[in-house]
Amino acid sequence: MSFQRNHYDAVVVGAGPNGLAAAITLKRKFKSVLLLEARETIGGGARSAELTLPGFIHDVCSAVHPLAVASPFFRQLELHRYGLEWIQPEIPLAHPFENGEALCLHRSLAATADMLGPDGKAYREMLQPFVENHERLLSDVLKSLPIPENPILMARFGLKALRSAKKLTEANFQGARTRALFAGLAAHAMIPLERTATAAFGILLAVLAHGVGWPIVKGGSQGLADALADCFRNKGGEIRTGITVGSMGDLPGAEHYFFDVTPRQLLNIGGLDLSENYRKRLSRFRYGPGVCKVDWALSGPIPWKADLCRKAGTVHLGSSFEEIDASIRDAHAGRKCLSPYVVLAQSSLFDPTRAPGGGHTAWAYCHAPHGSDEDMADLIEERIEHYAPGFRGLILAKSSMPPAAMERYNPNYVGGDINGGLQDLFQLYSRPVLSFFPYRTSKKNIYICSSSTPPGGGVHGLCGYYAARGL
Ligand SMILES: Cc1cc2nc3c(=O)[nH]c(=O)nc-3n(C[C@H](O)[C@H](O)[C@H](O)COP(=O)(O)OP(=O)(O)OC[C@H]3O[C@@H](n4cnc5c(N)ncnc54)[C@H](O)[C@@H]3O)c2cc1C
Repeated sequence: MSFQRNHYDAVVVGAGPNGLAAAITLKRKFKSVLLLEARETIGGGARSAELTLPGFIHDVCSAVHPLAVASPFFRQLELHRYGLEWIQPEIPLAHPFENGEALCLHRSLAATADMLGPDGKAYREMLQPFVENHERLLSDVLKSLPIPENPILMARFGLKALRSAKKLTEANFQGARTRALFAGLAAHAMIPLERTATAAFGILLAVLAHGVGWPIVKGGSQGLADALADCFRNKGGEIRTGITVGSMGDLPGAEHYFFDVTPRQLLNIGGLDLSENYRKRLSRFRYGPGVCKVDWALSGPIPWKADLCRKAGTVHLGSSFEEIDASIRDAHAGRKCLSPYVVLAQSSLFDPTRAPGGGHTAWAYCHAPHGSDEDMADLIEERIEHYAPGFRGLILAKSSMPPAAMERYNPNYVGGDINGGLQDLFQLYSRPVLSFFPYRTSKKNIYICSSSTPPGGGVHGLCGYYAARGL
């Protein structure tokens, strides 16, 4: 393989959001930085493609980006200068019920609390201090080490966040619907909802909805990756695609190497010269269940029974706390769930560039057993049809990726795990191993910078940024 140089200051392997973030951060420090990507296009989990029909643009992985707009690193980069445009749907999230009604998260905390009836007061009291101070809270929550700059605020957050979603909802909410709404948020942890700290995900996603919104990228998530790549190139960085790195022999000489891969892949890269002890510790890293992801090209907007759903960028489908929890448990236990909890995004409602001639797109996933090759598209469609009769009649084409296909698409999704490894309380702060600077491997100039490092999954680039900044 030939590169522009024989020797670089730094080489980054993998052009996902974290690899791109690491490359930009390194380019601020060094003269020569090379970013390598296995696929022909950059972006990792922030790619878009015509997965179904010509002109229908689908987000292959991430679609909704509260963490990206909240990311202190992305904010520094002024990515609008590289073409990035955010679109904020009128309502961040809707959660419909069987009878055609729905709850939702409005941008306004007060409007959301008003809708929750008797639970409104508890909802407002729980979230107000965090929403009012969301920038300070998020900067602490999204850190590489759990040492807060705002200890009082974080202590207040910790008291609630460290509880299980089950205990928190039982203690605060009387209504079954409010409990279902919160379960849908906490379910993004992909951990059974009676486990410690699952409440953290629910609170955090609600704070993000009220604080910064749950936006989508105009034209597709690829626009975010492309803006990051342009920012890197603009600083003089070099990107090469179509190069799968299997061993250090595939790489040019460099002072520092960064890998935007998960522990299992790192262990398979030849010639790294990692210590036996470190390899053993990395091999203990745990992965979670997978997802089955489906995209549709539609002839019209989804005909939701509940009007609120027609104004929401994201819709959660799960009739009760118990049903959503059961869906996660099944995925954890390696069982197929027959009424899976579904996360759905309907980006074309707010971004007409996603589909031609009045058409629409829909994006959805459900949790599924780790590594499963079973297509759950029919079950997901059944769920949508239940809340939006007539949905199936609108389908022009679809693309489905069960967990095993997710991993074939991107080896970072081990067994279809979209978070780069299980995000339980222990592994949130011991990603990929317990250490003060978890990004450095046992080899001094080799770093890991994917979502398998703090602060974990999602498109925010902070794993890459912290890894490269701490060098
Ligand atoms: C279906 C799905 C839905 C999601 N939805 C959201 C969402 O709505 N919002 C959100 O914030 N997050 C979402 N995520 C999670 C988000 O996409 C990931 O957390 C994020 O992309 C992780 O970034 P990363 O840079 O660590 O890894 P990745 O984005 O996975 O990038 C890793 C890159 O490294 C490359 N690579 C791997 N091995 C090699 C190698 N040996 N040689 C060269 N290149 C290599 C891969 O091809 C890939 O491009 C979703 C993920 C999935 C799969």
